[in-house]
Amino acid sequence: MNVYDNALRQLETAAKVMDLHPDTLLKLSSPERVVMASLPVKMDDGSLRMFQAYRVQYNSARGPYKGGIRFHPQVSLDEVKALSFWMAIKCATVDIPMGGGKGGVILDPKALSENEIERLSRAWIRAFRPVIGPEKDIPAPDVYTTPQIMAWMADEFSKLEGKPSLGVVTGKPVEFGGSLGRGTSTAQGGFYVLQAACQQLGLASSGLKMAVQGFGNAGATMASLLFAAGHKVVAVADSQSIVFNEAGLNIPELAIYKEKNRSVKNFPGTKEISFSEFFALDLDVLVPAALENQITADNADSIKAKILLELANGPTTPEADDILFKNKVVLIPDVLANAGGVTVSYFEWVQNLSNYYWSAEEVDQKLRDKMIPAWEAVWDAGQKYSVNLRTAAFVTALARIDLASRARN
Ligand code: NAD
Repeated sequence: MNVYDNALRQLETAAKVMDLHPDTLLKLSSPERVVMASLPVKMDDGSLRMFQAYRVQYNSARGPYKGGIRFHPQVSLDEVKALSFWMAIKCATVDIPMGGGKGGVILDPKALSENEIERLSRAWIRAFRPVIGPEKDIPAPDVYTTPQIMAWMADEFSKLEGKPSLGVVTGKPVEFGGSLGRGTSTAQGGFYVLQAACQQLGLASSGLKMAVQGFGNAGATMASLLFAAGHKVVAVADSQSIVFNEAGLNIPELAIYKEKNRSVKNFPGTKEISFSEFFALDLDVLVPAALENQITADNADSIKAKILLELANGPTTPEADDILFKNKVVLIPDVLANAGGVTVSYFEWVQNLSNYYWSAEEVDQKLRDKMIPAWEAVWDAGQKYSVNLRTAAFVTALARIDLASRARN
């Protein structure tokens, strides 16, 4: 089953649970618009190469399309469709007035120079200009796309429009229309949801045993927040190693160590453990913050954590979802757990449109005000329908999309 079939299966499951109006189900069963383009890019050696690019605008019932652009060799149209559908669900789960979109280019970014990436990014904007814009569709970074790439894209769009149009993309550098707090927003939003979940489940607000898979933007920020809150982060994984210390790791020191050594491997005072040992640790909270498909039918049964917080996108397979639900592991799904990122992206766009910029404290307070009610709505839906929190998040989001969609009929 491919990733888009998977997404449609999730849609059907939630639609059945909540008895979603058939018109809304029909509208959500395919994207509103799919745009494909071939991007001509002049390479540094003077040759010309063409790159296949996509933008999928899945649903706009609640507002302009929103979602990142991925540069990766494995990008496919079905993947972009699935990701754009999940963006519609994610935006509605945290109740921001945006729809779902996603873009991609098939390429190996590591094989291109910085200048070639810049020309490609500008070519992407020229190709998709007719369908994007601050009131239509607002891209953002995703895998292998960065704030610098967003700056080139905003610059290219502004030149074509003949006026500053910074609101065309989010995730820009702070000095060029980016929002304070965007860099840490994914982990910060997940942290607020985790705090609320611990309270709901009667778990302590500090001293819990936790492990984080992934020590990049999302995972390292999350580990720092957990450490600062007095939790014990006993294991951290990156692409090269998994380090463990029963007494807890000193995360600020680990961050400095990783910066210097490019990996957590051999961090003093730790022992290395295997992938299967990592997922069988005796924990209160497990945070996958690396890749997709990490928790599968093969290792889900070994998970002892009470809460699994999906900071990564798609770390759990549908089969593992069922096993975890049966084992009473509270899985907080990606569409809620990592939605802090798109929430602050939305704040960035609001600031760009009004050309008035908020303090870090203001951004943080507004993020909290979105994440906590979202958690409460998802938890309540889970209780009401006796379903796992992934289906509960879909039900919550679909109810909101349904209201907007049918109000227009
Ligand atoms: P990143 O590239 O900054 O970090 C990824 C981390 O995962 C790195 O530490 C890397 O070493 C580690 N990793 C890679 N392969 C691994 C493996 N096999 N085992 C263990 N660790 C491995 O990426 P990121 O921005 O932190 O994104 C991580 C996840 O969070 C992705 O699924 C992403 O889609 C999701 N996410 C990120 C954001 C954001 O704002 N950064 C927002 C929403 C979702």
